[in-house]
Amino acid sequence: MRPLNPPPADYAFAYRNPPRSGNLINGLGETVRRRPDSIFHGTGSEVLDWSALDRLFVTLNTRWAMWYSVKNLWLLRRANGPIAAKKISADDPAALTETIKKKARAFGADLVGVTPVIDEHVMAGRDISYKNAICLGFPMDREKMLDVPWRRANREVMRSYVQSTKTAVRLAEHIRTLGWPARAYGLNCNDIQQLPLAISAGIGQLGKHGSLISLEHGSNLRLSTVLTDLPLMPNASVDFGVDDLCMVCQRCRIDCPPDAIHDQKQMVRGTSKWFVDFDKCAPYFTKTWGCGICIEVCPWSEPGQGATLSAKLLAKRKPEPGAETAQTV
Ligand code: SF4
Ligand code: SF4
Repeated sequence: MRPLNPPPADYAFAYRNPPRSGNLINGLGETVRRRPDSIFHGTGSEVLDWSALDRLFVTLNTRWAMWYSVKNLWLLRRANGPIAAKKISADDPAALTETIKKKARAFGADLVGVTPVIDEHVMAGRDISYKNAICLGFPMDREKMLDVPWRRANREVMRSYVQSTKTAVRLAEHIRTLGWPARAYGLNCNDIQQLPLAISAGIGQLGKHGSLISLEHGSNLRLSTVLTDLPLMPNASVDFGVDDLCMVCQRCRIDCPPDAIHDQKQMVRGTSKWFVDFDKCAPYFTKTWGCGICIEVCPWSEPGQGATLSAKLLAKRKPEPGAETAQTV
């Protein structure tokens, strides 16, 4: 699949005096691990280096996107709330985890994983002390998303975000009725990094295009998260071959209009990982209602291809003498 006549990567609307580089804010080249800083989508009450571009993004948004944004904010008023006085027993975390995952699926999540919250999952300056994250994944309508980077895809992205927020809010409310603290995060999340949490929770792996790749839906999905103190069993992170393909594939790099995708992993806040040039991506992303070309051209996003692709990639690995090919890390 190729994008439909994407607009050229001109920056006619860009800053006259560009803000501090988003790559520097993101910690490109830094060798020490630290929490990430907020940079673009803010709460509205704080001034971020790239707030002006964020305001332009909101202004350019389609009417549908605006409507979904308002709906999302309305849902998030119930992200946190009163906790029932009677706490259920958590003597059997394995059984409790299965019950909570079933509930998440009943509320609309397709993928569910659990991971402990570590310091680097929390944005700098935020005071978040929950123990566990329940990460939720929601596939988008592939046919509508093939319209990237145009309005029909933007509408589907926003619809998916609202669905993901709604499910997270319902799950957090449910956990609070069990007497345990829980807080929901969906679109406009400024406290935590949902993508690294989802990777730790086994929802998928990071791709060269800087987005999550799941075995089930590739990158054609959105995330939401519930943080809670409920004692839960964590999932293992997964390795189904994403790095094997990204090391040789150029699809997203070729199709990214502003040439924002690095070919090699970069050192970012003390970790070597795939990295997208924020300064190149963000203006184009703003101009095209959220772009999304890289996530839809990725071969993993082709419906029904994940398992076959993974099996082929894993079969090509040369096993270390005496070692078995692992599918979890
Ligand atoms: S979202 Fe950003 S990285 Fe992806 S194709 Fe668009 S401009 Fe490139
Ligand atoms: S398009 Fe290719 S290089 Fe880019 S994330 Fe997908 S598999 Fe990796």
